[in-house]
Amino acid sequence: MIDIIHLLPDSVANQIAAGEVVQRPASVVKELLENAIDAGSESVILIVKEAGKSLIQVIDNGCGMSDTDARMSFERHATSKIKKATDLFAIQTKGFRGEALASIAAIAHVEMKTRQMGEDLGTKIIIEGSKVKSQEPCSTPNGTSFAVKNLFFNIPARRQFLKSDGVEMKHIIDEFQRVVLTHPNIAFELVHNDNVVFKLSPGTAKQRIVGVFGERYNQRIVPVAEETDIINIHGFIGKPEFAKKTTGEQFFFINNRYIRSAYLNHAINNAYRELLPKKMHPFFLLNIEINPAEIDINIHPTKTEIKFRDEKSIYAILHSAIKRALGIFNVTPTLDFDQEAPFNIAPLEEGRFVKPPEIKVNSDYNPFDSDPKKTGGLASKFQQKENASEWQEMYKITEEVDFEDERKQAASLFKNNEEDMSASNENSFQSIFQLQNKFLISQVKSGLVIIHQQRAHERILYEQNLIALEEGQNPSQQMLFPQTIDLNPSDFELVRTHLNELNALGMQLEEFGAGTFKVSGIPAQSKSENPIQLVEDFLDQLKNSVGKLSLGTHEKIALAMARSTSIKTGTSLTDQEKDHLVNELFACQNPNYTANGKPIVTKMSLDEINSKFD
Ligand code: ADP
Ligand code: MG
Repeated sequence: MIDIIHLLPDSVANQIAAGEVVQRPASVVKELLENAIDAGSESVILIVKEAGKSLIQVIDNGCGMSDTDARMSFERHATSKIKKATDLFAIQTKGFRGEALASIAAIAHVEMKTRQMGEDLGTKIIIEGSKVKSQEPCSTPNGTSFAVKNLFFNIPARRQFLKSDGVEMKHIIDEFQRVVLTHPNIAFELVHNDNVVFKLSPGTAKQRIVGVFGERYNQRIVPVAEETDIINIHGFIGKPEFAKKTTGEQFFFINNRYIRSAYLNHAINNAYRELLPKKMHPFFLLNIEINPAEIDINIHPTKTEIKFRDEKSIYAILHSAIKRALGIFNVTPTLDFDQEAPFNIAPLEEGRFVKPPEIKVNSDYNPFDSDPKKTGGLASKFQQKENASEWQEMYKITEEVDFEDERKQAASLFKNNEEDMSASNENSFQSIFQLQNKFLISQVKSGLVIIHQQRAHERILYEQNLIALEEGQNPSQQMLFPQTIDLNPSDFELVRTHLNELNALGMQLEEFGAGTFKVSGIPAQSKSENPIQLVEDFLDQLKNSVGKLSLGTHEKIALAMARSTSIKTGTSLTDQEKDHLVNELFACQNPNYTANGKPIVTKMSLDEINSKFD
């Protein structure tokens, strides 16, 4: 018999285990920041170079470690945070598995310097791929400095799969934000490639939110405070009128640990239900304090899901807390929340009407104005595209059928009379009918096509933007009065990284002091009167919904800009605009689907229509 099982060498076992804890630079950031907080630090500095690919360093002024502990801290399952199994049910620290440092040291070059308060000298340890290269006394400030260089140096496959600096930095900023938002009493600083991205002084929870998201959040949020026997909820929620199209500014923490929970999200959305239009998402940042015995703490360090013992009560309390906060701060003036007892979670009475926030629509907005100076040549460009007017052919069926009768009927149904048709130019298509300011319907030889107007315009702009990014420049409209836009540090960093691309797309942006850009022009195709809103929309798209798609950087930027400048569902179009939209769409390389695979055009054949009258 041949035995084939053997134990893996430590170095291999360590690398495998490390893979679970460290997926990307941001995982290292999370672990090191958490250790700094567990060490009782009052000030923590995070320094990264090349989005953490060449350096991640965390310097804290916490309790530091003795010589022996410094060496021990790199052993797997070495922790000072729990001693026995029952401690698992009363964890107050972030770490407890004793795995992070061992994992990081297995796949990087690490230099740690640490000194305990009251000691004259500290210790410096150098470890590379789990091998201790040196340990010697050193002079170093009180606390710990932990530098991680050449992440994944010994796992080239992992290193290769790291994303662009922009993407990795976004992950780092996400982790950083989650940590700093729940520790407003600690000073934090984040420095990337020698630029100070965040510098946050200790303060109140609200000051911290404003420090992270920008001054304007002062007016946008209201506090939530609910204390019960089971849980305490503290934090802030956004006023409905500042809700966004994406869910990027929603944070749940359980005992200061960031988590995701679709179930708890639902409780919040439900509380906002009648205050927000569909698909708009409010800001929230809530910490739920709960007895650790009530939750399953044995969550994997990299996972953010959580299990509660008594989910239903938590849902109810959360829902009621949000409604009360909205009511108390007069966010919902038509509802009388004062009379609601704190935990009375009765649903809204049937038939009560809450006015949704108003949405401003610029009725003069005409993206198809044929003056190329004004439109960036959208209209004029289409005329150069030969295949534009042949789009109906795409839907032609080979059978020769006399459609004349049906055509007439359809035309009258669509109320698109002869006059309308003669009013538009020769290239116009007959019978383009706008349904619910959302769909364009037109007859083709084989039946009719239905086009989603917003997606169609997004597709057109997306393809134009891609061309501009690859080989040129989108036209820009100069603003009469340039405006400045103050961005929060992470958004500022994001815009700075993509400044060239943004300018190629027709923005005219330049840095204007710390945290501020000057906007002196916007893409010609955008009729937005609010360039600041445009930039915010773009950032929101890039960070959130578009950011989550698996597209290349250029595609993401092109799409985020297309989405923030496109005409929206709900916009009424003139005949000429309808024509141009349809023509432009069918001149696209891929008129049928959006960049994320949603249909733009659908067809109904005459057979299908006829069959409905059988
Ligand atoms: P865990 O945090 O789960 O205990 P780690 O591998 O992250 O495991 O850290 C191991 C131990 O090293 C910690 O329990 C702590 O005692 C010590 N340690 C790590 N980082 C620091 C730090 N910044 N300051 C003081 N002690 C630290
Ligand atoms: Mg730890």
